[in-house]
Amino acid sequence: MPRTLTIFIDGVPFDQLERMAFANEFKTRARLVPILGYSVNCQTMLFTGKTPDEIGFWCEWEYDPERSPFRRIRALLPVLALAEAWYPTKRVVHKVLDRLGWVSSTKNIPIRYLAYFNQTGHSVFDRGFDGESLLDHPDMTSFLHWQFENNHQRDEVMFRAALEKIQSEDDPGHITLMLAGIDHCSHWEGVGSEPYNELLVENDRYIRELTNAYLGKYPDGQVFVISDHGMSNIEHHIELDLEARFGRPSPQNYTYFSEGTLLRVWSESETRLAEIAEYLDGIHGLRPFSDRERAEQGITRRACGDLIYYTDDHYQLVPSFWGPKPSVGMHGHHPSNRTQHGICLSTRSEEFGEEIGAKQFYAALAECLAE
Ligand SMILES: [Zn+2]
Repeated sequence: MPRTLTIFIDGVPFDQLERMAFANEFKTRARLVPILGYSVNCQTMLFTGKTPDEIGFWCEWEYDPERSPFRRIRALLPVLALAEAWYPTKRVVHKVLDRLGWVSSTKNIPIRYLAYFNQTGHSVFDRGFDGESLLDHPDMTSFLHWQFENNHQRDEVMFRAALEKIQSEDDPGHITLMLAGIDHCSHWEGVGSEPYNELLVENDRYIRELTNAYLGKYPDGQVFVISDHGMSNIEHHIELDLEARFGRPSPQNYTYFSEGTLLRVWSESETRLAEIAEYLDGIHGLRPFSDRERAEQGITRRACGDLIYYTDDHYQLVPSFWGPKPSVGMHGHHPSNRTQHGICLSTRSEEFGEEIGAKQFYAALAECLAE
C-alpha cells in the first residue's frame, strides 16, 4: 500500500513553479486546469471528484429565498440597511449579522438583499463541509486551517506539526496538509511582489523538508503537491450599476450576486433576463458563460444563475459583494486563461499528462488510498 503525502497550497499558478527550485524538480509536473469558480469548488472537487452539480453547490452563495437564514428577519433588513450609508456603521451591522452564526460571513453583500441568498457552499477543508471526501480515509491525518490559530505564522506552524508527525511516528500513515498563505498574499500584495516571491521560496522549503522526511520514512511513498487554481494581478475595474438601469432587485423583478470575477443573475421574466443580458454583453471585459460550457463543467443548476458572466483576465468587478475595494491579485477567471492554472506534482514519473482536471487528481489519490 503506497502511503501518500499530499501538500495542498492554495492558489499557486503553474507559471510560478520555476521560482520553486525543489518543487520544479518533481518527476511529474502537470497543469491543473480548474473549472470556472472559486476555491470552495476547486478544492472540494480535488478531494471528492464531484462537479458543482454533483456536490450540490457552486460558489459559497446561491439564490435560495426559501431557505435563506435571513428570511426570518426579512422585514428588519431595510432598516439595518440604513447603516450602509456610512462605512464604519456598515461594518458593525455586518459583524453583528455574522455573530448570529447563520453563515460564516456576510462579506459585502448588501444587507437588504441577504434574504434572497443562502450560503450553501463549504470547502472540503472547512468545518461546515458535511459530505464524504478522501480526507475521511481512516489512515488519513489532515492538517487543516481551522485547527490552528489564525495568524501570520499559521502555515509555518502547520508545516512543523506535519513534519513532527512524520518524524516522530513509526507509521504516520496518509497525510494531507493545507497551506493558504500564498493565496492571501497574492490577493493583497500581488503575484510577483516581494513578499509573494519570498512565500514561494518558503513554501518550497516546506515541500522539500516534508517530502524528504516522508520518503525517508516510506521509500515507496507517494508525494503530491497540488494547488486548486492559479492567480493573476488586476489591472482594470468594472463598475456595474444594475440598480440604476433595472431597478432594485426583488423576486418579482430580478436578483443578482456579484463577486470579484463572477456575476450571476436570476429572474422569472425571460424579457427581463434578455434586457439584462443585452446590457452585460456590451460591457468591456465581461463575458457570458455559455450553456455548453456550463454543461461541460457541471454548473447547470438554476440556483447557480439564470445568467452567469465572468470577467476577463486582469479585470475585476468593483465594488462587488466580495468586497468594496479592488484586489491586487485575483482568481476565478475563465480556465482558458493559463494564469488560472494550478499545479499538480507527483514524485512518481508519468503520473499525469501535461494538463489535468481536478477529477484526475482525485482518481490518482483515491487509487492510492484504495490499495
Ligand atoms: Zn483566493
